[in-house]
Amino acid sequence: MTENNVILLGPPASGKGTQARQLAAHLDVPCLGTGKLLRNEIDNGSVIGLEAKEFIESGQYVPDEIILKMVETWLSENPHGWLMDGFPRTIPQAEALQESAMPTRVIVLDVPQDELEFRITKRRECTSCGVTFAVNSNDDNTCPECGTNTLVSRADDALESFKVRYQNYKELTLPLFDYYASLGLLNKVDGTSSPEEVFSEILKIVES
Ligand code: AMP
Repeated sequence: MTENNVILLGPPASGKGTQARQLAAHLDVPCLGTGKLLRNEIDNGSVIGLEAKEFIESGQYVPDEIILKMVETWLSENPHGWLMDGFPRTIPQAEALQESAMPTRVIVLDVPQDELEFRITKRRECTSCGVTFAVNSNDDNTCPECGTNTLVSRADDALESFKVRYQNYKELTLPLFDYYASLGLLNKVDGTSSPEEVFSEILKIVES
């Protein structure tokens, strides 16, 4: 059986994390979320965490060298069959990945900027189990995954830093579309549909 090496691309708050969790479970492959990994490093006070903190909180991309070191370690432990959520985000990252592992599908979640800005105000992260999702009301404080009342807005979800992240996405990540299209790997999905519909579109691509 051929292995599934899937990359999920999309702007902040496009639903990548939610789709990645479901898809990794469905394909039974490990999922690399570089943003989540970096937040863990910050919480642990590691050297990588200390280096990455300021970049993340101001909405900037973390330098390629730091990301590539983390991904190299992760890939050496998970070489066959994987899902990547939030990596690669720049052309040098994509080129480095290409040297060590071949993606089999690249899926872009397409969501317009005004919808992303709306979603960012509703996004919460559970400090107990780490899951990220949207709340219906700003008073909502219970995690649907683990039931604790430990939800927070991410520091980089303030509208100001969202705008920096979105600008970086346009400048540094959009060029990946042409890069992967030229390799015949790019697929786009309308990320404004319901999470269930988006997931079923993703499955059609992965299983085609
Ligand atoms: P995410 O959880 O994917 O939204 O990532 C949160 C933040 O982590 C991003 O805004 C970046 O500052 C940083 N980050 C995550 N993945 C990468 C990457 N592949 N390259 C550069 N910075 C990254």
